[in-house]
Amino acid sequence: MFYIIPPRGVLAFNTLTSCIDTRIEYLELVYNKNVDNFEGNIEYLFEGSKYDRTGHFTLRLLSSTSNDLWYYWLTRETTLLEYRLNNVSKRQIYRMFKNIRNSVESGKERHPLYAALHQVTTFFLQRNIFSHIVAQDHSSCCEDFYVKLKFQIIPDLLKKRLVDLKDGLAIIFCSKWKELLKSLFKSLLAKEKLDLNDTCVSSMIKADPRLNFMQQRVELRLMKGGQIGNSRITVKNIDSEVYNFPPCMSHLHFLLRRRHRLSHNARFYYSLFLKDSGMTVDEALGFWREEYSQPHTCTCACSHNWQTDTRRFTYSIRHLYGLEGSRKNYSAPNCSAICNSNNGPRYEGGCPFKSFDREKLKELLKQVTKQSDTEKYLDTFLSQKPQVACASFLKLQRVKNIDNIFVNSPVQYYQLMKEYD
Ligand code: SF4
Repeated sequence: MFYIIPPRGVLAFNTLTSCIDTRIEYLELVYNKNVDNFEGNIEYLFEGSKYDRTGHFTLRLLSSTSNDLWYYWLTRETTLLEYRLNNVSKRQIYRMFKNIRNSVESGKERHPLYAALHQVTTFFLQRNIFSHIVAQDHSSCCEDFYVKLKFQIIPDLLKKRLVDLKDGLAIIFCSKWKELLKSLFKSLLAKEKLDLNDTCVSSMIKADPRLNFMQQRVELRLMKGGQIGNSRITVKNIDSEVYNFPPCMSHLHFLLRRRHRLSHNARFYYSLFLKDSGMTVDEALGFWREEYSQPHTCTCACSHNWQTDTRRFTYSIRHLYGLEGSRKNYSAPNCSAICNSNNGPRYEGGCPFKSFDREKLKELLKQVTKQSDTEKYLDTFLSQKPQVACASFLKLQRVKNIDNIFVNSPVQYYQLMKEYD
């Protein structure tokens, strides 16, 4: 459940794909608090088994090639850890602590995070402390025992103000042991992602047909029928979901609703954003059909209509979902690509924080947000870099205390809006 060392051995390729498919389905159900509906092969998900480890490490590897995919997988895998910590037996918890300690002792890694993992597991494995934390009546605010760690190791707990600080060290009380494990798990995965990126994992995956196939499959499984939070974007709810979209995408949506057409690149970007945010291909076909069946109200851009070009539209949407032609899986562009792309004079999109003037930005933000006082922040937005301004705008809409947010892509913006809803 908290794995550090990948499993060894050989696994048949079809078993591996079943293992991954089952894990994705299970992660999604756990994330949506719907685990009772799981009907797959539970054998692939026994804590500590070679299948469970293989599923975890394969998804870790495949997700590391894309920030969106990584974020998507990480949130679900962390939810699974939390779910297991709350549901497995005391004996399994004890075994987990021991396995973590053995893994960091046997590895060659000398990173401070490993020292912290060793310290924490040794602490909780003390007989009296272990019995104390797993006792039925262990209070959620108990401060009988505590462990001290360098605060840099657990940025998550600091952000949530769950620790006390003294002499540069974070003090974590025994009542927060599960939060501590979750935070260490996230720190471990963040470190792993950096290590994987350093080893050019993308080219390694591309060079191996089996891994390449698996990655496309994972992306399709996660993104095609994907779902963010508890909702999925559909034809029916898109007009309310649009208030969670980043300004660049809500701008395209409002424009499409008004004119019933978008230029080729704008349509391409908006379709990919919807796909990667969880709109299924059938919903996408319904959505674009609805718009492109109406007469357009613009003099420029695309003037095709659904009735005469049904086959072409259907093919191009299915193609974006990797279901036609080369079956390439396209991903939605990130903020740098949107900010730096040169799409020609007819393009209506772009990052509003970069390419809109004051009046146009003001109008758009007024339309997007329910906050009435956005105008007073306009000058700040205009003086900031686009992604920083976008993160400030997001924080403004979510009154909850969120720090250190950096917006990397429109899909990630949408995920954050849903997460902090
Ligand atoms: Fe969209 Fe990124 Fe610009 Fe935000 S910063 S509006 S997400 S392109």
